[in-house]
Amino acid sequence: MEQEEQFSSLSNLGEFGLIERLTRDFPIKQSSTIKGIGDDAAILEFLSGRTVVSTDMLVEGVHFDLSYIPPQHLGYKAVAVNLSDIYAMNARPTQITVNIAVSNRFGIEYLDKIYEGIRHACEIFEVDLVGGDTTSSYSGLILSITAIGEVDENKVTERSGAKENDLLVVSGDLGGAYMGLQVLEREKTVFKSNPDAQPDLSEYSYPIERQLKPEARKDIPELLEKLGVQPTSMIDISDGLSSEALHLCKASDLGVRIYEEKIPVDPVILKLCEEFKISSTTIALNGGEDYELLFTIPLEDHDKIKGNPHLTVIGHMCEKAAGTNLVARDGAEVPLQAQGWNALQQDQD
Ligand code: ADP
Ligand code: MG
Repeated sequence: MEQEEQFSSLSNLGEFGLIERLTRDFPIKQSSTIKGIGDDAAILEFLSGRTVVSTDMLVEGVHFDLSYIPPQHLGYKAVAVNLSDIYAMNARPTQITVNIAVSNRFGIEYLDKIYEGIRHACEIFEVDLVGGDTTSSYSGLILSITAIGEVDENKVTERSGAKENDLLVVSGDLGGAYMGLQVLEREKTVFKSNPDAQPDLSEYSYPIERQLKPEARKDIPELLEKLGVQPTSMIDISDGLSSEALHLCKASDLGVRIYEEKIPVDPVILKLCEEFKISSTTIALNGGEDYELLFTIPLEDHDKIKGNPHLTVIGHMCEKAAGTNLVARDGAEVPLQAQGWNALQQDQD
């Protein structure tokens, strides 16, 4: 829980003063940025390839709860989840714009901290902040980011490119972000009944970090390039493996088989699932917010990724008539459901 030490009203600065204060210290790094903040529009120049653009919106009370996400993390997360969509196109992000709506319940110092997180993400992911908009809101905080990126014409990965017999591959491990949220919500309940409780959350640092500070997989397009693997289709996992795999199937007009025993879940998360009495397969399939990349590669490229610690083959694409199934540990085939993140949240209520 973040307590505000200092509170300076937004009205002290006025709109232009506020924009100037928030957007200082954002040096331009990309050669494609001709002009950043300060004019009616930014000026960009891409010399070749494709330009990709993606927008995401984060709404207080819907996508985040300010009582447990510190403002720095919120700024960082807002950028990271947008860049994840750019990486899912096999592209390299280059610029972002940031739109923010705030009420006077937030002080200048609070917005400074959100921008600290945004600045940190711009450094880590090497993107330029080139514009945005600032406006007031009567109630909650809204943060919307647009990300721009570039990719060679023959490298761009759409959801529709998967072929029958392609292998289905996922980066990292799944379910961590969802279990992080479970831990945070449990602590919030404890805190409400006993504000003096000092929870020791060190044992849960991995899932909490996955929830509060997700990392976009910048390294994966680079790794695939190095390995000489061109994915046939790709998507990032924001809503859960099940829902994203179904998106690939629908766009590519195919079926899929995912093997339960192959789904990567970190040992810390497995242990936590036992503690919460929840199936690790369920949270990996439907948990969401892991921001890993899910992609398909030709079968003949298997040797190139085999044994790579960042990548796991979890199944394969098949003809549409074969359906979209999870092959359980006992061999039974269970249809995948696009239950998704929101549905899972409601189930718990
Ligand atoms: P306009 O009235 O033309 O929309 P603004 O006064 O809103 O211009 O913005 C001035 C400059 O500051 C523009 O370059 C705009 O893109 C940038 N800007 C405004 N708000 C933000 C923000 N929250 N984050 C980053 N850049 C911003
Ligand atoms: Mg404006």
